[in-house]
Amino acid sequence: MSYITEVLQLVEKRNPGELEFHQAVKEVLESLEPVVERHPKYREHRILERITEPERVLMFRVPWLDDKGNVQVNRGFRIEMNSAIGPYKGGLRFHPTVYLGILKFLAFEQVFKNSLTTLMMGGGKGGSDFDPKGKSDNEVMRFCQSFMTELFRHIGAATDVPAGDIGVGGREIGFLFGQYKRLRNEFTGVLTGKGLNWGGSLIRPEATGYGATYFAQEMLATRNDSLQGKVCTVSGSGNVAQYTVEKVNELGGKCVTLSDSNGTIYDPKGIDAEKLAWVMDLKNRRRGRMKEYVDQFKGAEYKDGVRPWDAPCQCAFPSATQNEIDDDDAKTLVKNGCFVVSEGANMPSEPGAVDIFLENKVLYGPGKAANAGGVAVSGLEMAQNSQFLSWTREEVDQKLQHIMKSIHSNAFRTAAEYGQPGNYVVGANIAGFVKVADAMIDQGVV
Ligand code: NDP
Repeated sequence: MSYITEVLQLVEKRNPGELEFHQAVKEVLESLEPVVERHPKYREHRILERITEPERVLMFRVPWLDDKGNVQVNRGFRIEMNSAIGPYKGGLRFHPTVYLGILKFLAFEQVFKNSLTTLMMGGGKGGSDFDPKGKSDNEVMRFCQSFMTELFRHIGAATDVPAGDIGVGGREIGFLFGQYKRLRNEFTGVLTGKGLNWGGSLIRPEATGYGATYFAQEMLATRNDSLQGKVCTVSGSGNVAQYTVEKVNELGGKCVTLSDSNGTIYDPKGIDAEKLAWVMDLKNRRRGRMKEYVDQFKGAEYKDGVRPWDAPCQCAFPSATQNEIDDDDAKTLVKNGCFVVSEGANMPSEPGAVDIFLENKVLYGPGKAANAGGVAVSGLEMAQNSQFLSWTREEVDQKLQHIMKSIHSNAFRTAAEYGQPGNYVVGANIAGFVKVADAMIDQGVV
């Protein structure tokens, strides 16, 4: 039995029922075959067994009072996956589907992604099955305070630095930071995605969407092409989706879809700056649903219960959630002429869909490379906090562009080095892995 198969079986046995974790580990480990064969040291040091086992898993009760005075109980988590190259770093997700399998997959992906950014960050992820949808601001605050009342003892600016993810935006980070500061009596960069006037970085909210767009631009440049004039589909309508639309517009493309968990809007005229401002207000302040878009903008249509992938496009930016593109969606995208997929979301394409993209020579940027801009600017926020300084918008954006370029060239070069030119899955996985694995060997059996 090959080393990879042995470890995959071990992971499935040790983590029963955690399907998303199995999926993420399988995708990464299978692409590591050539590097593990070329360098027996990884097997000798049992790196694959160690890198798939979290350094620490925290799971805790989060009790809170709703507005009617009723006691509610949620479950909180933090997965501290790997600290070989820096403090644990990764977002918090608040969504009813959250359980160990999803957070372990996200924490595992985060290890390789953070390694690719060139910054000193280990990998972690956390969250809760709490659903912020339909809750009042006061309920969200009481929940966040209770969540942090346990989490604060496990995190710190040099230990573990959480950020946002699905369901955790500026409002939640504010409540979490306030409670951390109160409990610890110190003002440190323990969370990223903070407000601008209390330690946040310019461009952090924009970073994941901008980064996924820069990554698409880099992939297109390898074929002497650009986003200019391209029709793009985007899924989701949250943080990542919004700033993807903003940057695609700036670079001369046209986005024709957005979605939420209820359905998709299709606007053949394109979601321009004015329409996007309306969407941002709808989603970030009024907390409404995408279907309201068609009452506001004539010529757009709303498709209930449907994902955006049947809309003809040249570039697709999945920016909602995991496994949102299945094999049929991938076939439809390719049939309709899509030749660029840049993943703002984590693991949005099912394994069969990835194969279809690769077989059809789609420029396919997997999430751990394409969406690394978010955590990269989180890393820059940590750097600014540690110096008690703030950089300008231009400075941070330039650094982000530089990092996205270097992630792209690293993945591109590594794929070619291992005999699979143009395969960013292999390139990103191997490049991300080698740095962490070598650091683990240097640091001994810990
Ligand atoms: P938000 O909470 O801001 O937005 C999430 C969007 O995705 C919403 O429109 C939401 O719709 C939709 N969505 C969530 N779950 C589902 C589902 N099960 N089915 C269909 N639609 C769904 O999150 P973000 O924009 O921050 O995150 C989006 C993706 O990007 C996630 O995969 C996240 O892990 C990834 N990511 C985010 C980073 C960041 O910096 N924020 C960094 C790197 C990756 P609804 O309102 O109906 O729930």
